[in-house]
Amino acid sequence: MSQAEMTRTEDDNVTAPVELSAEKLHEKCMALANNLWWTWQPDVFNLFRDLDPIRWRQLDHNPIALLREFTPERLESRVAEMVLYSRINHAYRRLKEYMASSTPWADTHAGVLGGKPVAYFSAEFGIHESIQIYSGGLGVLSGDHIKSASGLGVPLVAIGLFYDQGYFKQHLNDEGYQIEEYLDTKVENLPMKPANDPDGKHITVTINMKGGKLLAKVWQMNVGRVPLFLLDCDVEGNNPEDRELTSRLYGGDERTRIRQEMVLGVGGIKALKALGITPGVYHLNEGHSAFATLEAVRDHMHEDGMSFDDALREVAKRTVFTTHTPVPAGHDRFDAGLIEEHLGDLRESVGISHEQLMGMGRVDTNNQHETFCMTVLGLKASRRANAVSQLHGHVSRSMWAHLWPWRVEEEIPIGHITNGVHIPSWIAWQMMQLYDRHFPSGWYQRMGESDVWQFIHDVDPGELWETHATLKNLLLQFVRRRISRQCRRRGESDDAVEHARTVLDPNVLTIGFARRFATYKRADLFMTDVDRLVEMMSDPKRPVQFIFSGKAHPKDEPGKAKIKRINNLRHDPQFRDKIVFIEDYDINVCRHLIQGVDVWLNNPRQPLEASGTSGQKVVLNGGLNCSILDGWWAEAYDGRNGFAIGTGRTHTDVAKQDARDAEDLYKVLENEVIPLYYDRDVDGLPRDWIKRMMYSISTSAWRFSAHRMVADYTKLCYVPAAGGLSSQMPG
Ligand SMILES: *Cc1c(COP(=O)(O)O)cnc(C)c1O
Repeated sequence: MSQAEMTRTEDDNVTAPVELSAEKLHEKCMALANNLWWTWQPDVFNLFRDLDPIRWRQLDHNPIALLREFTPERLESRVAEMVLYSRINHAYRRLKEYMASSTPWADTHAGVLGGKPVAYFSAEFGIHESIQIYSGGLGVLSGDHIKSASGLGVPLVAIGLFYDQGYFKQHLNDEGYQIEEYLDTKVENLPMKPANDPDGKHITVTINMKGGKLLAKVWQMNVGRVPLFLLDCDVEGNNPEDRELTSRLYGGDERTRIRQEMVLGVGGIKALKALGITPGVYHLNEGHSAFATLEAVRDHMHEDGMSFDDALREVAKRTVFTTHTPVPAGHDRFDAGLIEEHLGDLRESVGISHEQLMGMGRVDTNNQHETFCMTVLGLKASRRANAVSQLHGHVSRSMWAHLWPWRVEEEIPIGHITNGVHIPSWIAWQMMQLYDRHFPSGWYQRMGESDVWQFIHDVDPGELWETHATLKNLLLQFVRRRISRQCRRRGESDDAVEHARTVLDPNVLTIGFARRFATYKRADLFMTDVDRLVEMMSDPKRPVQFIFSGKAHPKDEPGKAKIKRINNLRHDPQFRDKIVFIEDYDINVCRHLIQGVDVWLNNPRQPLEASGTSGQKVVLNGGLNCSILDGWWAEAYDGRNGFAIGTGRTHTDVAKQDARDAEDLYKVLENEVIPLYYDRDVDGLPRDWIKRMMYSISTSAWRFSAHRMVADYTKLCYVPAAGGLSSQMPG
């Protein structure tokens, strides 16, 4: 008898589903909806969708909102009609088994963490489109990190903030200008509950400051086996302004920012204590949460009677700090007044002077003109620090070299662990089926290992191409639906709305570009020479089309101008129907794009892309990357697994670098990408293109997976920080 059968309980009995009461059925569906494990289980989210496909889409794929529209009786009749009983029971049993089991991987590699989990701090978490507590890459990375920690069984708890308005919704007005809209989240539609202390009481933490105190309540979400605790300042006892402190992600001014970071760092440590959790390791994902180290020091001094220096040494030993920002201006800095107002109380209770505290956030400890930098605090208060790609490691070591003036650059103690993506969250179901047919059984448990992916070379090229064509068609359907909806919302004519259903052509080489519209990402680089672009796109034998999407930060006018410029190409007959802009980029839009494009374009101004992860999602689904050699692509590209724009050279004159990169972009498209795509054999297959797809998958899918990433963090950082055997992080 298998383990699964032995653990079957009475109400899991799939042979007698009729006995399940309507209430019980509703409860089981709610239990599935309340653990975000469902977000990477195709059989579970398909189950929700099948309950009501139209509402499912309208409700942003939120199963709780959907289930709340069903009375138990109506649910029961719908389940009977759609024959869903056994699927619900099966999914429910799988969730129970998943939650109750440990993994051989963690037993072998993470044993030393034992009852002292890693506490993973991040200002945003991108887990699913229905939970708006992320803005972009950093959040999606955190979400993928904790999903893979759950999958590998690494003991980890996550700490973040609950933003009840999240990041903004984007739409473009008639002129193509970005309009931001903030919507209140309905808490009752989210998979979260108030977190309780060991006595079962709801937790509220208090953060004491010179200028008064801040209260935050604590919510809990479950992401598979990982609990995610979210702090929320909308509580009675806070003044009205503070009640809105955590309502928006990256909103407000410096003061909002430092207060949010107090809540995340100081409040986060207090929340863990109230929960009865003693972390063995602190992982600070970016500098936003670095105040956590100071509160942890205070706690050690108080609990263990240590001196400040000893407590700091102890905390640093246990702290892992990850930096993501290669631009000096991108690091949070606060002036002495803000620091004293917010941290003065904490500073006094650990018995250090204002100047000593400021020194912890300054590169040059005694330079009174320097402001307090969160990244510097992260670096000074941690024993292990890392960048997020090999190239970003070099950049970070040189950027922070003056923190260790006595060392040569290669010896600056910042290593790198390259980012990766959570494969089950980003892979198309059709690709998963294809891998299932050709990969060794159990490959799903070994996604982060190279050897299973080599079997892609045994796949019939026609089968891979067919699968890709299916996914591309699904993407075009999605695009057309979105574009016609956008036209309708702008009040355009019925003809225009109808016409939108015919944009783009499935037989044409399709290039996708979607990301934040930060200036350095140069979304409009492809428009540098419009005549050349027109010529390239309208070659009747070898045409090209583009799909764009992305948000600009509300204060980034140049970014908004780029969006407008690209969007408004739709009015130009030369580009009409061949270039589309999809509004409101989010995880859902991203998922559709990365699963269906032929080519994913990325042309940041090197070396400003620390890693980038969207291109890694494309790999899994058979798309090819065409990118500047920056971030992850600088270490992934091997000459046959995609395309490189240029050779990785930079120029001190930004205008020159942009011009040269634009030239290289046109060249690689004209000379490599387009000819290879349209070079077909008698069966209509682009043989050499398909070979590149296979190389892309076999060289990069495992290497840029979050399973590999979390395995690296565990072996190279978590285990040594928890007092296990140390190993050397790659520089
Ligand atoms: C994956 C993802 C990102 C990160 O991609 P980049 O390559 O860093 O731009 C950003 N936003 C969303 C919604 C994503 O899913």
